Amino acid sequence: MKTIRLKPGKERSLQRRHPWIFESAIAKGSGDSGETERVESHEGQFLAWAAFSPASRIRARVWSFDEAQRIDAPFFIAACARSISARARFDVQSDGVRLVHGESDGLPGLIVDRYGDTLVAQFTSAGTERWKAVIADALLQATGLTRLYERSDASVRALEGLEPATGWLRGGPVAGGEAPPVELTIHEHQWQLTLNIAEGHKTGFYLDQRDSRKRFADYARRLGFQRVLNCFCYTGGFSVAALAGMRAAEAEGGAPGGQVVSIDSSGPALERARAHVALNGFDVNRASFMDADVNASLRQFLKEGQRFDAIVLDPPKFAPTAAHADRAARAYKDINRLALQLLTPGGVLFTFSCSGGISADLFHKIVASAGADAGVDGYILERLGGAPDHPMTLEFPEGEYLKGLVVMRKG
Ligand code: SAH
Repeated sequence: MKTIRLKPGKERSLQRRHPWIFESAIAKGSGDSGETERVESHEGQFLAWAAFSPASRIRARVWSFDEAQRIDAPFFIAACARSISARARFDVQSDGVRLVHGESDGLPGLIVDRYGDTLVAQFTSAGTERWKAVIADALLQATGLTRLYERSDASVRALEGLEPATGWLRGGPVAGGEAPPVELTIHEHQWQLTLNIAEGHKTGFYLDQRDSRKRFADYARRLGFQRVLNCFCYTGGFSVAALAGMRAAEAEGGAPGGQVVSIDSSGPALERARAHVALNGFDVNRASFMDADVNASLRQFLKEGQRFDAIVLDPPKFAPTAAHADRAARAYKDINRLALQLLTPGGVLFTFSCSGGISADLFHKIVASAGADAGVDGYILERLGGAPDHPMTLEFPEGEYLKGLVVMRKG
């Protein structure tokens, strides 16, 4: 059995059950990619069982803090089953659900989403790569499903020295047979959304924004939005939510004819967004789609004197790590300043950051300083986070990657 010996004093985060061991904390120890190692303090005290990753700055990720635990197939079967059964107690209003959320579920580097009867998994660490076959079988066993598609093409895999890998891991086409569908439909809250598990972003869809989309629909209904702008719309989840809320407002006697403008720089995502409007029974004339850069579009709208009574800003990860935080902060501030200027008094901004390197506190400060530059004050009506199936835990604060604010411009 191989051992990782830490430098003096470097055992503290492990004693608090934080699952990462950085290269800089290790006095000695090496191994193969994904190999299970015993981790000890400098004094030789047992700390954890961890998967070694020779190429990564996060040199090992913990499987267990229990010395008696064997890291074997039954361990993964139990861990997958625990993670999946926890979802039954979370409030998830969709048949698209995240079943395993990496470190937060005790399985560092493993993401598993379920879309109806199809599972999609990302193996992003050396340890999960090593145990891939065992984990794949454990997931099928715990769900009773037969189809598992692999989307291990996230850029973080390169940091672990792993090549991209995609395709059916289980339940794929048998010789001469037809391939199972990669085009799927999910039912989220009161709407339907389609996705392509082979080509979409992440595992195909942004499940983490499910409940913020619902909140947006609630605001659209209550306030009767007339002009909505959905920036970084991807496949139009917030646009569909807005239209649903606006339709409900009209049915309750609100003014008819509201419009939703959606912007993204991905042509295929926009095509799907457009299709989602019709799929959910909304008038396609009420939705327009722009294949454009958000920052340039916001500037253009300002120049034209356009105003919106609701704006969504849900940009991609500007700061993957804390090292990118400065540049990212400027980028966030810029778009938030422009959006606040474009809001009508009483209008509502749903603004997000999914950057691990930007804390909730820092994000709040960035939006505040955007408001100061814009000369706009607003009420912070709500703080938002990822949906409950993308949990953060007491032991792993990095689990809080997605944060949002609902800001109402003062009149
Ligand atoms: N709100 C979406 C998810 C947004 S993901 C949802 O609920 O599903 C971020 C999106 O930003 C991606 O679709 C990406 O194509 C788009 N994007 C990235 N950079 C952009 C830019 N500069 N201008 C416009 N869109 C951009």
